[in-house]
Amino acid sequence: MNKTASEALYKTALNYFPGGVNSPVRAFKAVEGSPLFIKKGDGAYIWDEDGNKFIDFCCSFGPLILGHNHPKVYEKIVGALQNGTSYGAPTKLENELAELIISRNPFIDKIRFVSSGTEAVMSGIRLARGYTRKNKIIKFDGCYHGHVDSLLVKAGSGLATFGESSSAGVPAKVAEDTIVIPLNDLESLKACFEQHRDDLACAIIEPIPANNGLLLQEKSYLQALRDLCTEHGVLLFFDEVISGFRVAFSGAAELYGITPDIVSYGKIIGGGLPVGAYGARAEIMQKVSPDGPVYQAGTLSGNPVAMSAGIAQLSICSQQGFYEDQEARTKVFVDAINAHAKKNAYEFEIVMVGSIFWLAFSNMPAIRRADEINNDMTPFKNLHKALLERGIYLGPSGYEVGFVSHVHSKEILAQAAEQFCMAMDEVF
Ligand SMILES: *Cc1c(COP(=O)(O)O)cnc(C)c1O
Repeated sequence: MNKTASEALYKTALNYFPGGVNSPVRAFKAVEGSPLFIKKGDGAYIWDEDGNKFIDFCCSFGPLILGHNHPKVYEKIVGALQNGTSYGAPTKLENELAELIISRNPFIDKIRFVSSGTEAVMSGIRLARGYTRKNKIIKFDGCYHGHVDSLLVKAGSGLATFGESSSAGVPAKVAEDTIVIPLNDLESLKACFEQHRDDLACAIIEPIPANNGLLLQEKSYLQALRDLCTEHGVLLFFDEVISGFRVAFSGAAELYGITPDIVSYGKIIGGGLPVGAYGARAEIMQKVSPDGPVYQAGTLSGNPVAMSAGIAQLSICSQQGFYEDQEARTKVFVDAINAHAKKNAYEFEIVMVGSIFWLAFSNMPAIRRADEINNDMTPFKNLHKALLERGIYLGPSGYEVGFVSHVHSKEILAQAAEQFCMAMDEVF
């Protein structure tokens, strides 16, 4: 594979940005070598600056559930652009996107748009604290909630890849108010509620933890968390930045039938442009400024171009059968690869939910905790390289999940599965 142009651009980028990138997960540190510089995307494909073409399973780390440059999203963005890019005043587009979300979502009365998943979580935590007038939060080992100070403790692929449990620059005083417990461990959870119950504002969880492997939780565990929160007057915060509009329109809450008190969205909600949102029932949301005392604002919040992209994308996601179709296509793809791995007794299995999948280099039947992940990333590194050579693009970390989009057709997926199996044969 010719990487001449990408390598030259990377060399220049190293002069401008730490590690040559504007988000650490884009670096190829974990898989060695230099990142590919992408020139364009169309449908299920991306092309790099050297003209190499790939079937894209990174999909911008989740937002692109309709693939690249979907004509409906494109059209709506161009339409919005003709009227300018930002006003700092309300538009009807914000109403439209809110209506799409709230009308399908029984536990959200009001939402607030922001510009990223991190911002949504950060603001939701402030709201939980403002509403309950308590300080401490429960977080789960391996769940990632953006680069919020108080949540950069034992969190996600970016940190895991670089072998750090937390970030420098987070004051111990701030981290102190975050209590981290393992996933899938009811005893720790109960003990934590017992010990801290007088000062707990919320428990925040990725109901489908998908930023540090794919650590699927049992419904009974999530239900127990819901019940403990209710019992102790603690808010249950579902961070659905990755699972929202991905596994079902209303995310994991809908899939599992469990109702959170606060929810955050991001990624898919903006149709590939920067949007996040947090929402809750009216009684909680009325604490948000200007109705209430919890301050939160944003110059570009509810940006008309971004709202337009979100409206176009969510309109398509809300159509009957959308998620069933996503899951069915993903399952055929995953089953084909898993059957090949099993037949050849490779220590490898793809874990999936909806249209999210993760490569587990282990034969352990159900990996539900961060400390159960096989941290030897050598096989991932080798497979990642072999897949690139065969025209399959995955995010450059074995802790990251992959995504199947609406335009990853059966034919494209069959072709990808075939390449996948050949790459596995090479590596194992
Ligand atoms: C991606 C992600 C975030 C952070 O969102 P950004 O838009 O990258 O700030 C937060 N929480 C979860 C669950 C995510 O997947």
